[in-house]
Amino acid sequence: MEDCVFCAIRKGEIPSTKVYEDKDFMIIKDINPQAKVHLLAIPTNHVPYLDIMTDDGAALLGKIILKISKMQEELGITDGYRLVVNQGDNAGQTVNHVHIHIMGGEKLKDI
Ligand code: 5GP
Ligand code: ZN
Repeated sequence: MEDCVFCAIRKGEIPSTKVYEDKDFMIIKDINPQAKVHLLAIPTNHVPYLDIMTDDGAALLGKIILKISKMQEELGITDGYRLVVNQGDNAGQTVNHVHIHIMGGEKLKDI
């Protein structure tokens, strides 16, 4: 999608540190980490907001969550982790391409 930073990263037009990639999604390091480990799991398909996700898109998000749980060791989050999806302005969503924040690698502040 035009002007989407995550689609540009996917295509290799913007550099990033990719931790995992398959045809359905990628995991990259967040450029501005808010925890010792701060990764972003980003579906390949450009869907701007969670609330317009299709059933297939939602099923993929479920698959990604399961995959993250199986990759804890290589992601460096074995002692626990937090998954966050920011939806819309009040949550501070800045990139309009649905993604899951993965945070861990240290004791996180309570929310
Ligand atoms: P949001 O606020 O939309 O939930 O999260 C967007 C995230 O994308 C932010 O944590 C921000 O640091 C990250 N981000 C924005 N631009 C880039 C970029 O060019 N590369 C990487 N790796 N992360 C980015
Ligand atoms: Zn996109």
